[in-house]
Amino acid sequence: MLIVGQGLAGTLLAWELERNGADFRMVDAGHDHAASRVAAGIINPITGQRLVKSWRIDELLPLARAVYRDIERKLGVTVWRDMRVRRHFANETERLVWGEKQARGELAPYGGDADQDGFWIEGAAHVDVAALLRATRAYWQKTGRLGETRADPATQGRDHGLVIVCTGAALPAEPAFAFVPWAMAKGELLTVETTDLAPDVILNHGHWVLPTIPGEAKVGATYAREVRDDDPTPAARAQLEHSARALLPRPFVVRRHETGLRLTLPDKCPVVGRSPHDSNLGVLAGLGSKGVLLAPWLARQWWNHLSEGVPFDPQVNVGRFWPG
Ligand SMILES: Cc1cc2nc3c(=O)[nH]c(=O)nc-3n(C[C@H](O)[C@H](O)[C@H](O)COP(=O)(O)OP(=O)(O)OC[C@H]3O[C@@H](n4cnc5c(N)ncnc54)[C@H](O)[C@@H]3O)c2cc1C
Repeated sequence: MLIVGQGLAGTLLAWELERNGADFRMVDAGHDHAASRVAAGIINPITGQRLVKSWRIDELLPLARAVYRDIERKLGVTVWRDMRVRRHFANETERLVWGEKQARGELAPYGGDADQDGFWIEGAAHVDVAALLRATRAYWQKTGRLGETRADPATQGRDHGLVIVCTGAALPAEPAFAFVPWAMAKGELLTVETTDLAPDVILNHGHWVLPTIPGEAKVGATYAREVRDDDPTPAARAQLEHSARALLPRPFVVRRHETGLRLTLPDKCPVVGRSPHDSNLGVLAGLGSKGVLLAPWLARQWWNHLSEGVPFDPQVNVGRFWPG
């Protein structure tokens, strides 16, 4: 079996295979244009302007925690941090919506205390994606499983039986999955130097502030639909600096401005499964803004399918886009 791409999708898939003693090889083009290179790694159980629980969060969150903790134990690296989110009310309507949903118990167990200005979201997390990719890459290079090269999944794979394509924003160029209505959303974020942030609190008001190491935080992320270049823009930087001034308790200095492309689908669900016209070609992609939360669960879908023939969940099966 060959996995093409070692972003979050390929990494979590490979970990699932590794954990179950399956044989596999991976290739990755040096994280070239990888969204995972810039992903902040936030898991936020309550999102959106309508204040809804993140899709299947009650099932996905415990699995994600268990998988990342397993990686920590086996590779001796720290990747998982339990966090809380302090979200400011955008306006009076949002405050009312919050009150009603809390009263009906719709946000349990993640809805926390509220005051006039905002509310707390419990059960959030931060995954240090850079540390995760670094540690797993070094491990698979040492064990001879990972090669740093670009591959053509359609031809290269013939020697490997099943090829699972995890190439993120490069997937729309893959002819075997041309029937999938891929969409793109460009994201930009800043790394800033600042002080006096609580290390376990993500601040959220439109954009978010994530404390990373002492004296440093990330501010993000913009979401530009159907923009397919990954050049940093002055307009996004200005928006993020504006949010940083509102959210940060102290002045800040911008150290880095990074960008990436998120691959998404019109129904906002990711894709997993085999190509309907070539069963030796598989996919795990379309993670959108939720790569750290979705990847472990999608990887488990692949393993259940390979080991016991369990059908892929119809809501995420790539076959849902196949005409007829
Ligand atoms: C600014 C920003 C902030 C974000 N913040 C968060 C967040 O806080 N939380 C969250 O959960 N998600 C976040 N995301 C989303 C997250 O980054 C993505 O969901 C996730 O990284 C996608 O992972 P992937 O493995 O599918 O793709 P990628 O990370 O793009 O990985 C694909 C890999 O395949 C390789 N590749 C491509 N073509 C080939 C080829 N032909 N041969 C070999 N290798 C190839 C690439 O080099 C790359 O390494 C953010 C995204 C952006 C842009």
